[in-house]
Amino acid sequence: MRPIQAVINLSSLQSNLNQVKKLAPHSFVWAVIKANAYGHGALKVAEALNKADGFAVLQIKEAIALRKQGLHKPILLLEGFFDSSEINQIIKYNLIPVIHNSYQLKAICNTSKEISIVLKLNTGMNRLGFSYSNFEKIINKISKKSNINIFHIMTHFATADDEQGVDKPLAIFDKICSKFKFSQSLANSAAILKFPNTHRDWVRPGIMLYGVSPFSNTTATDLGLMPVMSLQSKVIAVHHLKKGAAVGYGNTFIAEQDIKVGVVACGYADGYPRTAPNGTSILVNGYKTRLIGRVSMDMLCVNLTNIDNADINSPVTLWGEGLPIEALASAVGTIGYELLCNISQRVPLIYK
Ligand SMILES: *Cc1c(COP(=O)(O)O)cnc(C)c1O
Repeated sequence: MRPIQAVINLSSLQSNLNQVKKLAPHSFVWAVIKANAYGHGALKVAEALNKADGFAVLQIKEAIALRKQGLHKPILLLEGFFDSSEINQIIKYNLIPVIHNSYQLKAICNTSKEISIVLKLNTGMNRLGFSYSNFEKIINKISKKSNINIFHIMTHFATADDEQGVDKPLAIFDKICSKFKFSQSLANSAAILKFPNTHRDWVRPGIMLYGVSPFSNTTATDLGLMPVMSLQSKVIAVHHLKKGAAVGYGNTFIAEQDIKVGVVACGYADGYPRTAPNGTSILVNGYKTRLIGRVSMDMLCVNLTNIDNADINSPVTLWGEGLPIEALASAVGTIGYELLCNISQRVPLIYK
């Protein structure tokens, strides 16, 4: 078997949930497991996070898979439904749609069956949610429908992770929502970590559960989080090259001295970013070394010159335990979220 695998450490996942609960001890927790739990496998992650109070996903089919697995806790659909014909399934499987646009509002007001919903307020991100000028009217309209239960009201922050903070959107939210007794949900990971005044009734952690920092200037370790996914592979070929030899497509790496090169079974088709530059950190036999040459579809090359006993079958870590994903993300101009979600179907997830 090709040696690449993403090892998922479920006790680290649980420890990260405990960290959420320590930070927000009075809030219920929606564990956000959209995008196949940020690449970690939604069903296994939901099973391991049995101390979460509910789960948030994107698509109805993800929610139904969780129900079929025997999960009875609340499930939130973060974008609600896309067609009114989906409401029947939402009711059948007891799911809670976020209602954020006028199409959904109309459809929901036309059902006579019992349903719980979450109403979303746009507090300035201008992505999803009703504008504050008609939010009160909408709440009042729905409150008249005895079959519709407003499970809570929510908003989402655009800048909880940077210096702009949450003051402005929070003021908008409170101005309208403090008039109502509904329970509230505001905080993503960054707000959970940084703004206790946003914790309210339900928090919505995603990235921090997976042990990745939502901030560009703070590491996961500093935040008490443990990496959950380690992308691992092995060396599958070794070459002793003379000074002046080239490595990989485009000959972008030329050896400045004699060098021992390892070829690793991991490429961009596995989810390792092709844009990773020469010199990016990679662990071989537990020692830090460097990527050399271009990342290709199925392979990449590393410098083995100074690594004792490095040979065919030496273990390689591309990110995870011992090698924070945040460093790779910033080297390629993205965030840990994207690297995790891009882990490819052909990489088996191994749970430990
Ligand atoms: C994805 C998502 C979250 C989780 O965000 P993190 O930054 O991963 O914690 C929370 N709320 C909503 C509405 C989301 O879409």
